[in-house]
Amino acid sequence: MKNFSLCFLFLRLNILFLACQGFLMGQNHGVGRYSYPIFQAADGAATDTEHDVALEKATKAMTAFTNKYLKNTDTKICQDPSVAAVVIKGLAEHKVALGSPLCPCRFYEDKEAEAKDGYWNCPCVPMRERHECHCMLFLTDDNEFSGDSQHISYEEVVKLNEGFSA
Ligand code: SF4
Repeated sequence: MKNFSLCFLFLRLNILFLACQGFLMGQNHGVGRYSYPIFQAADGAATDTEHDVALEKATKAMTAFTNKYLKNTDTKICQDPSVAAVVIKGLAEHKVALGSPLCPCRFYEDKEAEAKDGYWNCPCVPMRERHECHCMLFLTDDNEFSGDSQHISYEEVVKLNEGFSA
């Protein structure tokens, strides 16, 4: 159980790092939090309030998508629900910044190009073709990290992300 906990903690921190990669590595390509075109203010930057409203809406949408896709694919969330919560938040951040729910568990040289390409937009091609989700959001029953649940609420997503915000 201790190894499981360390694994989950590593995954959560990894997703958080990847979500911040544009800022950490100077490769934001103009699609970060303050440059999403729909929410631009006069100076070209989105306000915190506009971003927060967009993020709440996207998080609700990605939570609803997750719950529906879990049932459609007969997969389960991880036994540690905070893993699902962090992945959903990462998908929502990408939906706001890029317009597409680009997988938050990978490193990209160019996030805009990857989002346009579509291969890693959730559900990604490996998930659609082989039920392989390396984010551990959609787990098959034979996965040792799989839990029993096919549902997570928006409130859980928000609560479980407290302390892990980018
Ligand atoms: Fe990432 Fe693919 Fe899993 Fe979606 S299905 S969270 S894109 S690995």
